[in-house]
Amino acid sequence: MSLSERYQQLPMRRCGASGVFLPAITLGLWQNFGSDQTYGNASELVWRAFDLGIFHFDLANNYGPPFGHAEELFGKILASGLGEHRDELLISTKAGYAMWDGPFGEGGSRKYLTASLDQSLRRMGLDYVDIFYSHRFDPDTPMEETMGALASAVHAGKALYVGVSSYSPAATKQASTILDDLGVPLLIHQPSYSLFNRWIEDELLDVLAAEEVGCIPFSVLAQGLATKKYLDGFPDGSRATQNGSFDRAWITGDAMAHVRALNEIASGRGQTLAQMAISWVLRDQRITSALLGASSVRQLEENVAAASAVEFSAEEIAAIDAHAIDQDIDLWESSRMGESIFTV
Ligand code: NAP
Repeated sequence: MSLSERYQQLPMRRCGASGVFLPAITLGLWQNFGSDQTYGNASELVWRAFDLGIFHFDLANNYGPPFGHAEELFGKILASGLGEHRDELLISTKAGYAMWDGPFGEGGSRKYLTASLDQSLRRMGLDYVDIFYSHRFDPDTPMEETMGALASAVHAGKALYVGVSSYSPAATKQASTILDDLGVPLLIHQPSYSLFNRWIEDELLDVLAAEEVGCIPFSVLAQGLATKKYLDGFPDGSRATQNGSFDRAWITGDAMAHVRALNEIASGRGQTLAQMAISWVLRDQRITSALLGASSVRQLEENVAAASAVEFSAEEIAAIDAHAIDQDIDLWESSRMGESIFTV
């Protein structure tokens, strides 16, 4: 594949007021890159994504299982050839959730963030990451300390840009103000957002637009709920069968009635439900990139096609609004609600 072909397949969007462009779709390595994944499958997914125009890969210290495994696997893929494209790639990682024992193995302290980034770089065999995130809000660590640690990573040349994830609108504004003062503007916010989890529409998107910060929503397919895969039960190997982050209690009669109705609307647009769910998120130009997971190349190929169909008629939007109703599936709500991480 020639470079020009690779870069013509996916639209790109500028990230806030920065010089960074993101592909409209980003591949996340939270799941499907654990120790039960073969190197061959992982490598095929990452290379196919890159060939489809996805040059942004989203990781975190704790993605696996076990913790760190996704970064190690990605490091092997880089070492086996992808790394020759390092200057074309955006590689993101994060620290915030529990990673190792003791008080410096999670949260928002300078001690944790600094050590974790060094470990991430070693696992991936990199000198720097493109974006380093505070993975969640830590109400008991001064915001100046957490943002100071992000800015220090940039000053040390270990990260080029910084981001926050699952911060409330007020905490995002505070983070952005502190980072501006430190001369390292907040590049991007990573919140949960999908047809069934719409909290960012209330205030966060307005704050991000005002601060000129990009937005990369994750779990855009609601971990698979916003696709047609659970309409007739639980397919073998699907996330809902793995006793992990997908709670089977989400599959209620009410939820599936909405999924069925949305599936009909998608068919009317000539899309699959997964595609419409992605297009719908990208309908808002304040969204920089839709951050997706995929367990197969087929899913990736289906999903990429959605990025070129982001126009919706007023009738379609109204029909979707009647069924795009929050389903209490947001596992990350406690971060923006400011719940304490440590009880000592
Ligand atoms: P998602 O896109 O909502 O869910 C991905 C899953 O949906 C896939 O594993 C697959 O499930 C299913 N799927 C994908 N395409 C499909 C299609 N065309 N048809 C049917 N099913 C399809 O996203 P996610 O994996 O929950 O999260 C995406 C990324 O966001 C993560 O990898 C991570 O980078 C990031 N993330 C960040 C945070 C944070 O706190 N910042 C939290 C969560 C996620 P099956 O495996 O069942 O096939």
